[in-house]
Amino acid sequence: MGTVTGLTCVVCGGAAPPSALWCPACGPEGTLDVAYDLDAARAALERDLATLPPGLWRYRALLPVLDDGPRAPLVVGPTPLVRAPADRAPGGLTRLVIKDEGRNPTASFKDRATSVAVARALERGAPGLLCASTGNAASSLAGFCAAAGLRSVILVPAAAPRPKLAQLMVYGATLLPVRGTYDQAFDLSLAAAPHLGLDLRSTGVNPYLGEGKKTAALELAEQLGWDLPEWVAVSVGDGCIIGGLHKGFVDLWRMGKLPRVPRLLGVQAEGSAALHDAWARGLDRPEPASGKTLADSISVSIPRDARKALRAVRDSGGRFVTVSDDEILEAQRLTARSTGVFTEPAGAAAVAGLVKLARAGDLDPEAPCVALCTGSGLKDAEAAFKAGGAPPDPVEPTLEAVLARLGV
Ligand SMILES: *Cc1c(COP(=O)(O)O)cnc(C)c1O
Ligand SMILES: [Zn+2]
Repeated sequence: MGTVTGLTCVVCGGAAPPSALWCPACGPEGTLDVAYDLDAARAALERDLATLPPGLWRYRALLPVLDDGPRAPLVVGPTPLVRAPADRAPGGLTRLVIKDEGRNPTASFKDRATSVAVARALERGAPGLLCASTGNAASSLAGFCAAAGLRSVILVPAAAPRPKLAQLMVYGATLLPVRGTYDQAFDLSLAAAPHLGLDLRSTGVNPYLGEGKKTAALELAEQLGWDLPEWVAVSVGDGCIIGGLHKGFVDLWRMGKLPRVPRLLGVQAEGSAALHDAWARGLDRPEPASGKTLADSISVSIPRDARKALRAVRDSGGRFVTVSDDEILEAQRLTARSTGVFTEPAGAAAVAGLVKLARAGDLDPEAPCVALCTGSGLKDAEAAFKAGGAPPDPVEPTLEAVLARLGV
């Protein structure tokens, strides 16, 4: 915390008080950046990299938490980097590196942001946290609150995949399935927070969440020896992950740890492409999308972190691309069968986006690139059966039947 200097608005650049959710002058569109004294942070980071164990807190010099403050006892990162054999790589991307974020404590990328939100709640002595989520932020918050002894109150669309709901129940969250969309649940979380006295972990509006998300960028850079490929791909719903990644790369670049910021490829589902469309049309304010996609984690009609997501893509010289649900399922299958990484549809979307660019001739298939696979495939069994096929009919429990089925 020693290196945080304040919050600044992404729209007007003005300062905001440390507890603000958005800029007092610009309103909800004016989401906030956390600024650091990067000279002080650099010295502290170098020291910590030489002494602290692996995991997200080794980047505490660039996080809005106390150096040795209270934390949930769950270990986040480092998540593994996985490469496919060149002759079987998805879409012929021979130098594709997958960062398997499904290997976090509650099986998604969201654990990075939750770590920071929960650490801050513990520092303040808050009784618990509230969040609206498509599912993963909720299960992440529920798990971390369980571990930290805090209360979690969760609003999710009632149609969220059952495994995500199962996590919430087993972690003991106070669950309110909303008969409505994620966007409705989100607005409810904003309205309810002041009545409950809980910290808000809904994405986009809490400026400290993106700081947790940026640890994936810091960790990736360290894992690759501070030598990043030209393209880093990630799927985009509200835009908080891609905004956080960009912040992490920019912090490192400003500190002189990286020669340049990689280009960010934001991948959206065709039916949920509000940010892609705003980018393509040169707009700063996205128009609502239908939000229809089987990749539930990126099914968002009103993206809440639009400014930072658009800035991430524009400033990094990156781009957006859309993929169909069939392309997502194909990428889910190809990724699993070539690397063993079983990722949920939203995670596979990042691979699908790179494959799509390569097939269109917009990306050299032999160029190094990274796809962040943001959640575990076990998060959504029904989608996995769509990608992999339904299990075949049972065989009789005899050797003859087994051999006959195998054509021997
Ligand atoms: C939340 C989530 C995303 C999208 O992140 P945004 O910050 O909403 O853009 C992608 N994949 C998974 C698995 C997620 O849980
Ligand atoms: Zn402002």
